[in-house]
Amino acid sequence: LRTKENSRNLSKVGIMGGTFDPIHYGHLVTAEYIRTNFELDRIIFIPSGDPPHKTDRIIIDKMHRYYMCVLATQTNENFFVSEIELKRIGKSYTIDTLREMKKVYPYSEIYFITGADALCDMETWKDVPNLFKEGKFIGATRPGVNLDSAKTKAQLFRQKYDAQIFNVSVPSLDISSTDLREKIKKDESIKYLLPESVEKYIFKYNLYR
Ligand code: ATP
Ligand code: MG
Repeated sequence: LRTKENSRNLSKVGIMGGTFDPIHYGHLVTAEYIRTNFELDRIIFIPSGDPPHKTDRIIIDKMHRYYMCVLATQTNENFFVSEIELKRIGKSYTIDTLREMKKVYPYSEIYFITGADALCDMETWKDVPNLFKEGKFIGATRPGVNLDSAKTKAQLFRQKYDAQIFNVSVPSLDISSTDLREKIKKDESIKYLLPESVEKYIFKYNLYR
């Protein structure tokens, strides 16, 4: 969607990867908080195609997850959605995504945003030593995940890999996609946990039943 030329004036770009199955206000609030605090020019949500870590359950069609991200970000002029991981054949890895994003935004500093749970898990990701060379990382607090353990992990990555990681305490919303999927299955209300447009989309296509 973006050419090198019109990305020249973007100095800082945030990337938020996830399954987004479905996207919810926890994702959106975290992204907006980090965008304003780190003065990022934009945040790009990148729904995963075939996530290497989540093979234990059926993930709904990637196009549904992509469209829900588009609906959820429609009202924020600084939020965008990228389809790069959807187009990739085979498993998708963050390091490949960061390298691709660098080609699209060669003039920008890239910040990869993760929740504390994802941060703690990062050593299992592909090619960790090189992954940390591809950008800066922001680990955001998340309810249920101990901030100290995220901080300890970040410190370890700094020492071991010379990683540039920021730990941020985000005013948190205790929402997860897992919880949303369970609520839908049990016919419980999911109101105010995710944008109404996404809620309507889920019911229209009868997702997560
Ligand atoms: P699931 O329950 O299926 O794992 P999820 O709610 O964790 O879904 P993901 O798509 O796995 O959502 O998360 C994408 C990114 O957003 C991860 O880095 C995750 O840590 C972060 N994240 C998810 N929910 C929150 C939240 N409520 N607050 C802060 N960060 C969050
Ligand atoms: Mg998760």
